[in-house]
Amino acid sequence: MTTTPTASGPIGSATLTEFIAGLRGTALLPGDADYDRARSVWNGAHDRRPALVVRCAGVTDVIRTVGLARSEGLPLAVRGGGHSIAGFSTLDDGIVLDLSLMTGIEVHPGDRTVTAQAGCTWKDLDAETQQFGLAVTGGLVSSTGIAGFTTGGGIGWLMRKHGLACDNLIGAHVVTADGQLVHASASENAELFWGLRGGGGNFGVVTSFDYQLHAVGPTVHSGLVFYPAEEAAQVLAGYRASCAAAPDELTTLVNLTTAPPVPFLPEAVHGTPIIGVGGCWSGDPAAGESATAPFRSLGTVIADVFAANPYAGWQQALDPLYPRGIHNYFRSAFLREVDERALRALEESFATLPNPLAEIHLQHLGGAVGRVPAQDTAYAFRDQEFIVNVIARTPDADGFAESVAWARGVAAAIGPDAGTYVNFAGDPDPSMAQASYGPETYRRLVELKNKYDPTNLFRLNQNIIPTR
Ligand SMILES: Cc1cc2nc3c(=O)[nH]c(=O)nc-3n(C[C@H](O)[C@H](O)[C@H](O)COP(=O)(O)OP(=O)(O)OC[C@H]3O[C@@H](n4cnc5c(N)ncnc54)[C@H](O)[C@@H]3O)c2cc1C
Repeated sequence: MTTTPTASGPIGSATLTEFIAGLRGTALLPGDADYDRARSVWNGAHDRRPALVVRCAGVTDVIRTVGLARSEGLPLAVRGGGHSIAGFSTLDDGIVLDLSLMTGIEVHPGDRTVTAQAGCTWKDLDAETQQFGLAVTGGLVSSTGIAGFTTGGGIGWLMRKHGLACDNLIGAHVVTADGQLVHASASENAELFWGLRGGGGNFGVVTSFDYQLHAVGPTVHSGLVFYPAEEAAQVLAGYRASCAAAPDELTTLVNLTTAPPVPFLPEAVHGTPIIGVGGCWSGDPAAGESATAPFRSLGTVIADVFAANPYAGWQQALDPLYPRGIHNYFRSAFLREVDERALRALEESFATLPNPLAEIHLQHLGGAVGRVPAQDTAYAFRDQEFIVNVIARTPDADGFAESVAWARGVAAAIGPDAGTYVNFAGDPDPSMAQASYGPETYRRLVELKNKYDPTNLFRLNQNIIPTR
């Protein structure tokens, strides 16, 4: 619902009136009935009041919104699924370019590709591709947007067999800072295409993504197995050994957490520290039981809920554990290997969880992720076999700062000199971008930024700072 603009805020009323009159989508201003819903994002830690939220209905709306931000000299936040941990997809007093109305998806089963508009979530994309028994690596929580996820890299249950989401990107339409629509692929604007695969939202607004798809499911052998916290040393060491022998079709993670009050866990353990090992076997369903077995016998089993699941269902299985609106902070560390020091740090950090919502994830990368040459994509850390993601959460602002400090300390203890993953970087701090790419990739990203966004219009991201 759009109101008639008045001459308030940083945009003059004549400019606003003309802008809104030409929109196919909707514009939300402070005072509009839907404004509070439109300004809210998944991470409740970021409560901002934009001057204008533009819900774009198509490429023309995107071009006009980029033009408005440029001509008015206003900061611009680009929003796909709205899951930015650092809060980049909202802001005070600037313009939010919201793509959530743009959810068109066209699957091409014959050549196993899909074109998806940038407002899609993984739930949207999985629903359309699974109709044809196809999929591309998506997020562990289905409400995550494909846009931020893919442009940052894209770690998910299919990655060891099929690569990151960005490894499956074969083309993208992008509105650049000067308002041009360009197509990027291996053969057109190839350097931009390189930067879109891991460089985040630094180079423009992607309006649609083309992905390579793979035969997946419809059934995958997936689930979680739970072990006692007291067995952390044994379970973590066993996990490391099982990862070394794991086939590419199997992607797993360890979650050092607190038992949620779910029916498949005995009431006696609810609210106490517990180790979850999750996995997804996307190979031959008949081999799922045996392929996952090593990960399901790492200690005393409290509960084992591995089963044959519809792939799209498994993609949504963890959604209830990551609700919208609470305060969240992530901090990550890539690890080439889980050496004895890292193992001890994981175990010791587990004993310091500040509240039942805090978690430490250890995810196994490798496989297809590690086989892509480092220079082929802006996602840089191809030789890192594991990533640790430390998750700090509180229901509201109470105790959040202390939890954030805890997460920073744990990540530093586990990987003191480690690189970070741009999509798990909770701090809006220029040092994060440098830590997410390493010096060589960062230099190349700066050159690309100088070419496509020399005035840094797209700066609400882990920012590559232009030098020209
Ligand atoms: C609950 C949860 C689970 C997650 N699980 C995973 C996981 O399993 N694996 C993983 O790799 N990551 C995961 N993440 C991190 C996630 O990939 C990032 O937060 C990602 O940025 C979210 O994308 P989005 O489109 O929802 O976010 P948004 O907040 O909409 O966007 C984040 C940033 O991405 C950029 N961006 C968004 N849309 C566009 C666009 N159309 N064109 C150009 N740039 C754009 C912008 O810089 C924007 O600020 C998870 C995050 C959450 C909150």
